[in-house]
Amino acid sequence: MSILKEVRSHYGKLNLFINGEVIESESSEVYPVMNPAKDETIAKVPFATKEEVDIAVKSAAEAFERWKELPITTRIRYIFKMRNLMEAHFEEIARITTQNHGKIISESRGEVRRLVENIESACAVAYSLSKGENMDQIASGIDETLIREPLGVFAIICPFNFPAMVPFWFLPYAVVLGCPVIVKPSEITPIATDWAFKIMKELNLPPGVINMVHGSKEVVERLVTHPKIKGITFVGSTRVGSYLYKLVGEHGKRAIIQAGAKNFIVVMPDADLEKTIPALLTSFYGNTGQRCLSGANLVAVGDVYEKLKEKFVKAASELKIGYGLDESVEMGPVTTKKARERIIGYIEKGIEEGAKLILDGRKVEVKGYPNGYFLGPSIFDNVTPDMVIARDEIFGPVANILRTENLEEAIEIINESNYGNAACIFTSSGKWAREFRRKVEAGNIGINIGIAAPMAFFPFAGRKESFFGVLHGQIDSVDFFTDKKVVITRWW
Ligand code: NAD
Repeated sequence: MSILKEVRSHYGKLNLFINGEVIESESSEVYPVMNPAKDETIAKVPFATKEEVDIAVKSAAEAFERWKELPITTRIRYIFKMRNLMEAHFEEIARITTQNHGKIISESRGEVRRLVENIESACAVAYSLSKGENMDQIASGIDETLIREPLGVFAIICPFNFPAMVPFWFLPYAVVLGCPVIVKPSEITPIATDWAFKIMKELNLPPGVINMVHGSKEVVERLVTHPKIKGITFVGSTRVGSYLYKLVGEHGKRAIIQAGAKNFIVVMPDADLEKTIPALLTSFYGNTGQRCLSGANLVAVGDVYEKLKEKFVKAASELKIGYGLDESVEMGPVTTKKARERIIGYIEKGIEEGAKLILDGRKVEVKGYPNGYFLGPSIFDNVTPDMVIARDEIFGPVANILRTENLEEAIEIINESNYGNAACIFTSSGKWAREFRRKVEAGNIGINIGIAAPMAFFPFAGRKESFFGVLHGQIDSVDFFTDKKVVITRWW
């Protein structure tokens, strides 16, 4: 057993990052930030005042006028440096993520890797954009040119479950293309982002290009409705995301809203179970089930049911639960005490609805961490699609087993779900896989993959109530932060 050292035991009162400076907030609203494995306060987060948010927006708006005028080669140089800084601080950001979120260290390292890849992807795309789309002589003596321009200041609103990565799904693209940003981390897991901004001070970016304010509802609403904000990117729940989508619409702004999920994993009778089971464990219990791409409903098709159930329950029951900084641990705690209570509430609801709890994770005990927000893996059998546990996003380590006769029926159930973030199939048949990929209404499809997470240079897809807007996160945000201008020229 090797337990990694915490970067710090306490991070003090977190700061805001405005106009190139680390600022102490004057807010009287300050809340504790927890380590979920220990139920200990490890930082305090101040919710920025309205005046502080306004100063951040003003400095970003002023920065825009100068930043967009810099040659792209100069902007790219800053972003390259950002990439190297993050790489240099890779391990410490990963450890802070585990300490504040609870996920195991290998998952945090995976998250920071994707953070870095998004910066690399932003550099690459910024160079390739220079192609241009011009045409001479569209009419006699007239030429037509297409110019891509940065739009202005954007706010980036983040969820609790990927505190290091999600800001970087958007920040590097916006900044390299000429748009200053204001990042609003989750108030539950603000430390990794706070740390990243303190590191980024070393970049000496022109003041106002990157800003960060802490807070919750009021801060987000101020950002969304501020006249100098061009648009927002939001990653979080469907409840908040759909509300913000309306608010953004009322104010005539742009939005990328990536929201909640309830993902289906289909296992066909011909699936290779030896390879499928480990993938299922990662899908359902990776990140302690707190991932928008996590498996939630496991659909056993035909006669795979008995064998699949037996192997899945056995493997899940053997997962080692504990503090994620212990490298031998396979699943950490959930992130908040409230989330733990909510998940237990759903387990009780499932029992009440008549589902059969065949693995009960409610009473797990972790030696050395008596107060942590731990839950073991839970598995329900005899689940039907109409049950609340099969429809609602539980966002915890709970798997529901459903049964169907054939693939068609499985696809029908999936397509009736309100959500459409991800859907995966395990099979040896190319024909079944193709049918699945073509007919399933979900944005991210896994074929013999349990977590269908798009790489940085692909868009992060999503459909139905899992996504509101037109353009997606990661590479798609290039079109989001810029707009096209068409110039038609005639010289006399
Ligand atoms: P959340 O909606 O509670 O919070 C997200 C952000 O919104 C936070 O920064 C929070 O401070 C802010 N917020 C909360 N209430 C608000 C309100 N009333 N008005 C304005 N802003 C408000 O989400 P969460 O619990 O932090 O994150 C988990 C959710 O995110 C899950 O539903 C998960 O599926 C989803 N998620 C989706 C994706 C995706 O790409 N589709 C990725 C990661 C997480």
